[in-house]
Amino acid sequence: MNRDSVLPGYFAILRGRSPSRYRIASRLHVDYDAAAPQEELWKVHDGAMQEFRDALDSSPPDDHGKKDKSTSLLCLKELIAMRMLNSCGFCERKCRADRLEHEVGSCGVNAVSHYSSEFLHIGEEPELVPSHTIFFSGCTFKCVYCQNWDISTNPNAGISVMPAELSECIVRRHLEGARNVNLVGGDPTPHLHTILKVLGLCDINTPIVWNSNMYMSGETMKLLDGIVDVYLGDFKYGNDKCASRCSAADRYWGTITRNFIHAHEDSEILMRHLVLPGHLECCTEPIVRWASEHMPDVRFNLMFQYRPCHSAHRYPELGRSLSREEISGSIGIVKKYGLSNLANTKYSLDS
Ligand code: SF4
Repeated sequence: MNRDSVLPGYFAILRGRSPSRYRIASRLHVDYDAAAPQEELWKVHDGAMQEFRDALDSSPPDDHGKKDKSTSLLCLKELIAMRMLNSCGFCERKCRADRLEHEVGSCGVNAVSHYSSEFLHIGEEPELVPSHTIFFSGCTFKCVYCQNWDISTNPNAGISVMPAELSECIVRRHLEGARNVNLVGGDPTPHLHTILKVLGLCDINTPIVWNSNMYMSGETMKLLDGIVDVYLGDFKYGNDKCASRCSAADRYWGTITRNFIHAHEDSEILMRHLVLPGHLECCTEPIVRWASEHMPDVRFNLMFQYRPCHSAHRYPELGRSLSREEISGSIGIVKKYGLSNLANTKYSLDS
């Protein structure tokens, strides 16, 4: 496979030929009144995003300019996210919890973000590694088979985020050879306000990877536009019934397909699908079919590492690993619809 055809924007940032999105947003000056009503801030934001897109198309690789520390597009995004905390709608659950007043919604995360670990991950997709992966605590889903259940079900696991310290850590990992910043959990969505704050303190040219279940609200998708360079997105279920039963997530199909389409328009995508035992017909096939119809160029990673964890044993079909027939059957589905599977492809920046 031609290396340059894979995530070309991502590789342009790695080679220093393009600025990453958050860096452009941190330099794009926006006039706004921080005391204005939220609706006014959204209007200013949406107008500024047009300027952002122009800058994205025309920004010379070596003209990263000077960072605007007080009234940039990135500052405005952080302000809007902070305001949203008092009636949280970061994800599609839209709990409306006042997280500034110590209320918590379904994810259990209050205003203070925690992360359980951060390190240079070499187990992600080949073009991403080594990846500076930050595991935020808490999750918007309740997957009965979660392999990270110790942090996804405990929003206070690990240490609380000190934004200045985490931004220094990101710079240090960059100097150690990280190819990107990989925001994951649990799920990064409940931590949107913290992540924007931390990025506001960074100034290195590195791609931002949003490693997520893709259950963000429409408002969160708008704030991520102009920040995220690559969506490393899970597409888990082919229908609402399986999503509700296995992850307690309502309105799944419409939400996830909407968000993948936005992500495809705004940035680049690496789509993941963890094959679940007994879910080839109801989930794997509809997902692969949809991806082949709506984004046939998507980088698709079929994953076979399912093992029964957490409370999976309570669900008859999920209490076992995949059979050989299920592995070969899911590969056959991907071939049938013509998607590329990157699981065994290697990438390097050496030439
Ligand atoms: S992030 Fe989602 S689950 Fe958590 S409080 Fe906000 S709307 Fe609820």
